Amino acid sequence: MKLKILHLYPKEMNLYGDHGNVLTLVKRCEWRGIKTEVIEHEPGDPIPDDIDIIFGGGGQDSNQDKIEDDLRKIGPKLKKLVEADVPTLVVCGLYQLFGDYFETAEGKIIHGIDILDIATKAGPTRLIGNVIISTPEFGEIVGYENHSGLTTLGKNVTAFGTVVKGYGNNSEDFTEGAKYKNCIGTYLHGPILPKNPRLADYFIKKALEKRGNTNKLERLNDSIEHRAHKVASSRPQ
Ligand code: GLN
Repeated sequence: MKLKILHLYPKEMNLYGDHGNVLTLVKRCEWRGIKTEVIEHEPGDPIPDDIDIIFGGGGQDSNQDKIEDDLRKIGPKLKKLVEADVPTLVVCGLYQLFGDYFETAEGKIIHGIDILDIATKAGPTRLIGNVIISTPEFGEIVGYENHSGLTTLGKNVTAFGTVVKGYGNNSEDFTEGAKYKNCIGTYLHGPILPKNPRLADYFIKKALEKRGNTNKLERLNDSIEHRAHKVASSRPQ
C-alpha cells in the first residue's frame, strides 16, 4: 500500500515554504512505515483517479493567472475527489481558486473551480503577518499570512478556525479558512503542517481510513514540532 499525494502546481504555487507541507506528509508517513508517492501536477498533466491526498499552495496573482486554464480543466476531476472525501489542503492562492473566483486589485477576475463555497476580492492593502487561530477540531493553529484577497464564506462551508491573532479571511468577521467535507482551505503559510502536527496527521488518517485502515495512527515524538509551534505562537503579529 502506498499513499498517493497529488501536489498541484509545485512550480507556480509555492510561497513561504508551502512545499514543506508535502515533505511533512511524506516524512510523517515514512516515520510510521507508510509508503508514499508524490505526483507533481503541472499544466497539461493528467490526474490519476486513485489519489489519496491533494495539496496545493499559494502564489502571486500572475501565477494564479498562469494556472487558471489548466485548473479549470482538471476542476471537475478534483471536485469528484473532494466529494468522495479525499483529504485536501489548499493554501492561500489555491484556497482562493478552489472557490468561485479571485478578483485582483486591477479588477481582473481569475475563475476558480467552485469546490469551496467562497468568493475573494482583493482589498486595498495586503494582510501580512503571523497568525493564530483556534479551531474546534485541531486546537490552536499557527501560521503566516500574506494576501490581498478578502474572502467571504458561503453557506456550504464552515470556517476552518476563528482568528485569535492576525487577519484571516477578510480582517472583519474573525473567520479563517474554510472547511467542506475533508477539504480544508486556509491562508496560513509557514508552512502550516510542520508546526501543527495534529493537522498534518488528520490528512494521513483520513487517507488511510478511505483505504479501509481504521487503526489508530502510531504516535510520533513531536517535541520539536511543539517547540516550533510555541515559538511561532509567541511571535508578534
Ligand atoms: N495572490 C493572492 C493574494 O494576494 C494569493 C497570495 C498568496 O498565495 N499568498 O491574495
